[in-house]
Amino acid sequence: MNLVLLGPPGSGKGTLAKLLSSELKIPHISTGDILREETKLGTCLGKKVKPFMEKGELVPDQIILEVMKERIRKPDGQKGFLLDGFPRTIPQALGIDEMLKESTKSIDWVLKLDVSEDRVLKRLGGRWICSGCGAFFNLYTKPPQKELTCDFCGSKLYQRPDDAPEVILNRLKVYKEETLPIEEYYSKQGKLRKVNGELDPDSILKNVLNILQLKNK
Ligand code: ADP
Ligand code: ZN
Repeated sequence: MNLVLLGPPGSGKGTLAKLLSSELKIPHISTGDILREETKLGTCLGKKVKPFMEKGELVPDQIILEVMKERIRKPDGQKGFLLDGFPRTIPQALGIDEMLKESTKSIDWVLKLDVSEDRVLKRLGGRWICSGCGAFFNLYTKPPQKELTCDFCGSKLYQRPDDAPEVILNRLKVYKEETLPIEEYYSKQGKLRKVNGELDPDSILKNVLNILQLKNK
């Protein structure tokens, strides 16, 4: 099954993706994670995309499409995959459709996480991530027991540079302008399903499994 997760920054796509990917045993492919890794390694690609990411702007479609073309060809995705943070523009949506068509595949379902803007601002503004194990904390809703330290592995927590207040506002603006239109694109194809993203992660997972009509525990 080939799935796409949609939703504004801070809607919980990453969290749901992790749960869903282990439940369905398909890889979680996050363009944000791929690009952050490239910038961390300082690769040529990483250097190209860094300025866009720091400002909360979208990386040009052509670059993203090349990255994805390579990624979805890998053997782990042959039985299905879960896309998180891609497609994010109409050209990207058209691009992935073309790519999949070549191997007689297609996107099956698009899950949209609905979350109020208020909630999004709180989630992103308070988000701290563990540098060791990647666990998420939130200063408002899920603070670590010891200041700036991971409850699970004791490593230091850090904040994503694009979670700075001005950048958050820009990411939301970009989302509305560039990404909202693809909801309609998938809705016209009858593939869009909306999910309440304000519930706890386990309830969201349960609802999603119901929507996909998969047995749930
Ligand atoms: P979020 O959804 O929280 O904004 P992501 O981790 O998905 O964060 O993306 C972080 C940044 O990486 C984006 O602001 C953008 O600069 C870049 N990026 C990720 N995916 C895409 C994409 N599909 N198209 C263009 N840029 C992207
Ligand atoms: Zn940790």
